[in-house]
Amino acid sequence: MSTPIDLRSDTVTLPPPEMRRAMTEAALGDDVYGEDPTVNALQERAAALVGMEAALFVPSGTMGNLVAVLTHCGRGDEIILGDQSHMFYYEGGGASVLGAAAMHTLPTGADGTLDPAAIEVAVRPANDAHFPSTTLICLENTHNRRGGMVLPPSYIAAVRAVADKHGLMLHLDGARVCNAAVAHGVSVAQAAGPVDTISLCLSKGLAAPVGTVLCGSRDFIKKAHHWRKVVGGGMRQAGVVAAAGLYALDHMIDRLQEDHDNARHLAEGLCAIKGVMLRQRAVETNIVFVDMAGTGIVPQRLSSTLKDAGVLAGATGSVVRFVTHYGIEHADVEEALSRVARAVRTA
Ligand SMILES: *Cc1c(COP(=O)(O)O)cnc(C)c1O
Repeated sequence: MSTPIDLRSDTVTLPPPEMRRAMTEAALGDDVYGEDPTVNALQERAAALVGMEAALFVPSGTMGNLVAVLTHCGRGDEIILGDQSHMFYYEGGGASVLGAAAMHTLPTGADGTLDPAAIEVAVRPANDAHFPSTTLICLENTHNRRGGMVLPPSYIAAVRAVADKHGLMLHLDGARVCNAAVAHGVSVAQAAGPVDTISLCLSKGLAAPVGTVLCGSRDFIKKAHHWRKVVGGGMRQAGVVAAAGLYALDHMIDRLQEDHDNARHLAEGLCAIKGVMLRQRAVETNIVFVDMAGTGIVPQRLSSTLKDAGVLAGATGSVVRFVTHYGIEHADVEEALSRVARAVRTA
């Protein structure tokens, strides 16, 4: 049987050989003492990239978002975020479970936005004993469950204005903010917009094996450093993995354009197959959701039918997610399309 083409996620990326070399040769120290030169270099590099004062290296995007919540919010504070956001949907309720913060969800629009007017309505009145205290708004750029849609800088600025009016902090789950920057042809700092804090994943399309950087003001990062220790995220000779992150920021951002081109090509090809329909507003970055109900393949068999045909993808009901990433070439997309077409034809 031919090698499967793995389009489940951009987290399946393997580090390029030069990244592995950088890991082997990294200068190391004990990062809990702040003495790992490679971790320190990564943190400085990441802060500069997003245009903030400081950054903190954490093991995962989930921990980056959790540490942000622990740092921004006290017990019983309320967070306004989207009902389709990764923080609400996929992080085990960590903000509430571990952070004792309530999550006030608003409907996520098809473009990944939350209506700024609805955010304003959701902010709790101050000085009333009945209400939790709203302290934080969270956005996601690009938006995972909205097919990698990019939030325009003007939209983030509009939410910033609401946050400022009510004295709230604004956190960006920027797991794929580098994809947003490349898609809009702007800097990562511009794609992040005027937020207070951002978490940026190194282990998705940027192909590092592990790690996220949480960025913010010097004061915020000092407090976040404490919370990272509390949740067990203090790592020792973490320069081994930070070296991969540094390599990722230096060499892997610009090539994301290839993933976006491949995703568009994949989406067009999939939608040319009878019974397959695009299930998102537009293909702006590297994520493609399609609805395959029209193919007649029963939802329970979609994943296994595609897998038998040599294409790995993520199915939820009749909706299937395909993600392009480092290691997937144009020719792989062509091959995946012919495999999917054959699977649909013979199903
Ligand atoms: C992957 C992802 C995360 C979490 O990252 P992990 O490293 O898997 O914990 C957070 N937010 C978004 C939007 C993601 O896609």
